[in-house]
Amino acid sequence: MKKIAFVIRKDDHSLSIKNQLEINLVKSGMIVDEKNPDLVICVGGDGTILYAVHKYSNKLDTAKFIGVHTGTLGFFTEYTDQEIDSCIHDILSEPCDDFTAALLEVNLIGDVPQHSKTIYALNEMRIENIIRTQVIDVYIDGEHFEKCRGTGVCLSTQVGSTAYNRSLGGAVIDSGLSIMQLSEITSIQHSKHHSLGVPYIMMRNRSVTFMSDTFNHALLCYDHLYMDLENIQKVVCTISDRCVHFARYRPYSYLKRLKNIY
Ligand code: NAP
Repeated sequence: MKKIAFVIRKDDHSLSIKNQLEINLVKSGMIVDEKNPDLVICVGGDGTILYAVHKYSNKLDTAKFIGVHTGTLGFFTEYTDQEIDSCIHDILSEPCDDFTAALLEVNLIGDVPQHSKTIYALNEMRIENIIRTQVIDVYIDGEHFEKCRGTGVCLSTQVGSTAYNRSLGGAVIDSGLSIMQLSEITSIQHSKHHSLGVPYIMMRNRSVTFMSDTFNHALLCYDHLYMDLENIQKVVCTISDRCVHFARYRPYSYLKRLKNIY
């Protein structure tokens, strides 16, 4: 890997770590290429990796990602800011292993074709309506599953299971499993209406469709991004063939990261 690019969290410490990395890697023959990197080095946190993945979404087939955490140890980040020397050493002494994380593909079907679009998420997609009760019919592989009333729903990937999903009481999913996890967001449960009420973990080849009479005032949140759903009639989600490739130069302990968050 010769061509590198940096994505950094906007704080002085992350900037100074990035400068150390850049000086040493360039001195050793690497080239900074913001447009066509082989390796995107993210300095900040897991949120910085999300930002980088969306920034370089058209380079996912050719670029690998690596993260240095300037706070605690993250899930996407391989090194802490105390390990800059080994990070530089590892990047310079290729090869590395490739850990791939499949993206969630979210197809938004509009009331007219111009409003339809496809977006991708690494962690999760959520339909959220904080203004009024959102009624959502959930179909799995075309079969009606439940009518969910409440703030909304969250559909998470394996890597997203430790993010928003976890705050909803969703299960943390072991690294290496490829699944989708559906969780309801503050769903209303009473004698006349109830839905599953607990998270549902699905095989990766399922297709999950969300429909409603109206998505007015609802937002589609995906990773750190969002858009309104005003002109959308149906949202169809699958696990995509598109993947994010993470460069792994040394053994990665998922358990160590999990223990770090509680
Ligand atoms: P953000 O500030 O970039 O991230 C919010 C927090 O979520 C940060 O502490 C971030 O870690 C952590 N995070 C992100 N991805 C993670 C993952 N896969 N596993 C464990 N922790 C993870 O916030 P944002 O821009 O609004 O949204 C980005 C992501 O944050 C979303 O995809 C969502 O999952 C998550 N989020 C969670 C909650 C919640 O749990 N209630 C609320 C909002 C957003 P770093 O500090 O390492 O960056």
